Amino acid sequence: MSSNLQNLYRQVIMDHYKNPRNKGLISDAGYHDVHLRNPTCGDDVTISIKMDDDVIKDIRHEGTGCAICCSSASVMSETLVEKEVGDAVRLAHQFYDIVKGEEVLGDVEDMGDAFVYQGVSQFPARIKCATIAWKAFEQGISELKEGK
Ligand code: ZN
Repeated sequence: MSSNLQNLYRQVIMDHYKNPRNKGLISDAGYHDVHLRNPTCGDDVTISIKMDDDVIKDIRHEGTGCAICCSSASVMSETLVEKEVGDAVRLAHQFYDIVKGEEVLGDVEDMGDAFVYQGVSQFPARIKCATIAWKAFEQGISELKEGK
């Protein structure tokens, strides 16, 4: 493993990978599920969202994949829970800028652990791994808004 790649798997990422927060789906009618796959890496993620009056009350995740993908799902669930929907979507877009190594505009103090994925920008093939859970969240929100 190159030292660059070791950098990529920083302590925070490995911690979320080994001790994922909010893992495991809950069988409850109040949750909306989105399943996404990343065939190039083998990542397979289901995100489950509970929304109440435009506030994200709970985010669960389940699936298999690489450390980047699974840890990112855990970080996403922690970062976006208890946020107002508009803020959560804005944070997801800030996260896409972070992993692409682009300048992040606006208030970033809510991003927390998500900043460790900045190193992913050096590995373009892994950007999809890092963002898949966040994309699933975003898809879930638009489906909920459309009343699906
Ligand atoms: Zn992956």
